[in-house]
Order: sequence, then structure tokens, then C-alpha cells
Amino acid sequence: MTLALETIGLTKSFGGFQATKDVNLKVETGARHALIGPNGAGKTTLINLITGVLKPSAGRVLIAGEDITAMAGHQRVRRGLSRTFQINQLFAEFTILESLVLSISEREKHGARMWAPLSSERAVVDEAAALLDRFGLADVMGDKAQHLPYGRRRLLEIAIAFASRPKVLLLDEPAAGVPEEERRDVLAIVRALPADVTVILIEHDMDLVFSFADRISVLVGGSLFAEGSVDEVAADPRVKSVYLGEGP
Ligand code: ADP
Ligand code: MG
Repeated sequence: MTLALETIGLTKSFGGFQATKDVNLKVETGARHALIGPNGAGKTTLINLITGVLKPSAGRVLIAGEDITAMAGHQRVRRGLSRTFQINQLFAEFTILESLVLSISEREKHGARMWAPLSSERAVVDEAAALLDRFGLADVMGDKAQHLPYGRRRLLEIAIAFASRPKVLLLDEPAAGVPEEERRDVLAIVRALPADVTVILIEHDMDLVFSFADRISVLVGGSLFAEGSVDEVAADPRVKSVYLGEGP
């Protein structure tokens, strides 16, 4: 089976400090893969290395078997990598529907098939409507993004990332700050994305992780510490000790 994403010996040093150390991560196509670990474990650094925000000190990143280590961020997006960004000022002024139409239009403009005609306006609006349905945003499509409650704002951010038609979607704590009763809904919508879309999720709440993931990688002190199915990781006494040791 082809791996959607693989890192080989991925290492990042900040001065003398290694934030990620020789990380060999394998993520299968279509996985719902959680990346967990204590604060400061290097999770966000790893995502930044994968997306090209940071340049690795050593190691390689592969998408669908292709080495993308030397590629700029936008080239990686074209290879099917996408991550969420917080709704910025620009999007805040738009309605939900406008934000999605804009995201889809951007993708079409920068698409690889430059000789193909742009999708018709109608096709863009139809796709935006499908996104509204998928992310449970249809009833607020006329609202401005800045007026959305937090949970739905995160869903819009994920919908915008999904509008780039990613093969691999990276979500760094998408449920952070979302009220408890909405978190599960946010992750259920992500879990239900098409089966060929690979999702890598960073999340602290272990109940949410267990309900979302089919594979879990545990990062501790920059190194991959454990990896396996949800059952394997849940039963791993070393993982338990890391999390119990971390308690308040
Ligand atoms: P996590 O997301 O798992 O909480 P991070 O990847 O944000 O962890 O950080 C891992 C470690 O690397 C932390 O000790 C953090 O202070 C350090 N770090 C992250 N970014 C930088 C940076 N730009 N410069 C120096 N140290 C950094
Ligand atoms: Mg982080």
C-alpha cells in the first residue's frame, strides 16, 4: 500500500536544541492518524517541517512516494498537502459562502491544468454548496466569518483547507478553544471526510483522539516514542506513564 505521507530521519535543530529528532513517520492513504504527545514534544514543529514552513536540519519528507523536501509551501499544496489557517482579516469580512467560493476559485486559478477552462461560476457555487452541507454551515452561509461562534469558525477553516482538494490534510489542534459539547461534532465531520483523504490530527483530549483515530503516533521530546492502532497505544504502559506523569 502506498504511503500518503512519510518522513525519513526528519530532524530540526533550533541552535543546539533538537525540536524533532530522527522522526520516521509513516501515514497510510486514507488514514485517520493522530499525532499526540506532551506540550513541547515537537508536534507543531513536525507539521511545519511537513508543510515547508520550516526547513529541516536533516531528513526527508515524501508525499505519495515523491520527495518534496526541497519544495516550497505552495508546491506542496499542489502535491495535495493542506493545513488550516486561522480566519484572517480578509476572510473575516466575507460571508461563509463568499469565503468558500473564493477558496474554490483560487484553487481553479492556480490549478495544474492551466490550459483547461476555468470552472463555470455555476460549478463553483455548486461545490461551495456541497462544502456548506458537508461542514454543517448551510444555515449560516450568509453570515460574516468573524461573527461565527468558535466551533463553526474552526469548521469553516477546515472547509477552506478542504476546498484545495487535499490528499493529506494536517490539523493542528482544530478543537482547541472549541466548547466541550461541540468538539466531538467538529471531529466527527473531519472523520467523515472522503475515505481517500488522509487526515493527520494533533489533539490533546484523549477521548477525542480515541474516537477519531485509527492510528496513533506518540511524540515525546522530539522523538517518535510509540506508534500503533488505537487499542495498542491505549494499552501501552509507557504511553500511560507519559500522560499520567504530565498531569496537573
Ligand atoms: P508541540 O507542538 O508538541 O507543543 P512544538 O513543536 O511547538 O511542540 O515545540 C517543540 C519544542 O521546540 C519546544 O521546546 C519549543 O519551545 C521549541 N521550539 C519551537 N519552535 C521554535 C523556534 N522557532 N525556535 C526555538 N525553539 C522552538
Ligand atoms: Mg503545538
